[in-house]
Amino acid sequence: MNYVSTRGAAPVLGFDDALLAGLAPDGGLYVPESWPRLDLDALGGLAYAEVATRVMAPFVAGRIEPEVFARMVAETYAGFGHPAVAPLRQIGDNDWLLELFHGPTLAFKDYALQLVGRLFDHVLATRGRRVTIVGATSGDTGSAAIEALRDRANVAVFILHPEGRVSEVQRRQMTTVTAANVHNIAIEGSFDDCQAMVKAMFADAPFREAHDLSAVNSINWARVMAQTVYYVTAALALGAPGRAVSFAVPTGNFGDVFAGYVARRMGLPIERLVIGTNANDILYRLLETGRYDRGRVVPTLSPSMDIQVSSNFERLLFDLCDRDGARVAALMAALESGGGFAVEAAQIETARALFSAWRCDDDATLAMIGEIHRDCGMLIDPHTAIGIAAGRARRGAARTPMVALATAHPAKFADAVARATGIRPALPERLADLDRRPERVTRLPNSLAAVQAFIAERSITEKGKGGMENGDGDAREGETATTRAGRA
Ligand SMILES: *Cc1c(COP(=O)(O)O)cnc(C)c1O
Repeated sequence: MNYVSTRGAAPVLGFDDALLAGLAPDGGLYVPESWPRLDLDALGGLAYAEVATRVMAPFVAGRIEPEVFARMVAETYAGFGHPAVAPLRQIGDNDWLLELFHGPTLAFKDYALQLVGRLFDHVLATRGRRVTIVGATSGDTGSAAIEALRDRANVAVFILHPEGRVSEVQRRQMTTVTAANVHNIAIEGSFDDCQAMVKAMFADAPFREAHDLSAVNSINWARVMAQTVYYVTAALALGAPGRAVSFAVPTGNFGDVFAGYVARRMGLPIERLVIGTNANDILYRLLETGRYDRGRVVPTLSPSMDIQVSSNFERLLFDLCDRDGARVAALMAALESGGGFAVEAAQIETARALFSAWRCDDDATLAMIGEIHRDCGMLIDPHTAIGIAAGRARRGAARTPMVALATAHPAKFADAVARATGIRPALPERLADLDRRPERVTRLPNSLAAVQAFIAERSITEKGKGGMENGDGDAREGETATTRAGRA
């Protein structure tokens, strides 16, 4: 399978190159040249990892050896905390929840990142290359990336988070990973400061090249690919291919719901894909009005969806524009310069034939958490609540099963759950001692020079000269951790 850019002006790449590239050099996102067909009859009764291997096989064909890939996939999902990996739970008549929080960091991002970490390491080892992953996080993504990349030989990972502005659980999920290749940096500043420094590092060509900077953010095709799998396993369990199924997806960057679209393009009988948004409702407004207009980010109880531009929407736009990259490039230029664009009437009709959207404010989110607790005796997280609310509001045919994606474990957002139900959800057993594990984190000022110096000293790339082998850097990080704990 080859990959083309949504903006039509980048080289066509194989899977491994698209994996390492992330963003295409023309600013676009990589998508497969064509959509392969699923053989659904061959998938019935198989375990999650086996379905996963078969669903993803055409996307990696020619670039990753089939046996190597099958082993990687098996290893990835063997580490999950539920034998079904992505179990379904019934919450009403033809109303289901797909639990995607059984990975190591309790959010659905593990389902893709745990595999992407292995893929990265494998492709880098084959080429004799090493990279430096740099990222900023406001909470969820950082811990999922750290868990995916810990102890991988060819990757060093540096994650910046705003000191004191991520939740206790989120911070500990990052800082208690003390693998030598993992570096947590607490910035004395905001999330925007962290993100601005990461952008500046990627824009600094000598620095970027010296340390082979790379990212595993949500625009990476491999993440979308891995997320198509649970749509397939859920639909099979509910009667596909003989019966159509709908999904409701709490949405931020449009990555997860786009994976549902991919499954449909591959032939999975999906009737509707319902997009759930919080007050940051660019996708809801798009389907209502046909205009894609950037708004200001409003903080909500579902912070992983507090996003003003849904990057992966560009991949759907590419198909809506009949895969004309020049048209997509023009629209994205209008978004950049003027803050928005109108989608043509025929295109929005095409989108509405499959997608619906629903918007939930914080009060409605809390109300849904309370309702599910009363009716089903279950605790759900705020993102999941928005998915359920969206699915119920935009059900379509009542006989079609509606599956809402449960994207995080309730204990990750315990404050909101406690507010809605009076009950504070506990962490699952394997994380029960999280608050007693030692933390390792380095506090740095909001200074690009300081962060770059820290990374340069610990780089493991050929050109970057390693500081990791001598163990010196680690000692200093430990010291900082002590200082930090002393203050707390
Ligand atoms: C990232 C995230 C989302 C949003 O997923 P997208 O792929 O960005 O649409 C929803 N819920 C949770 C818990 C998340 O961490």
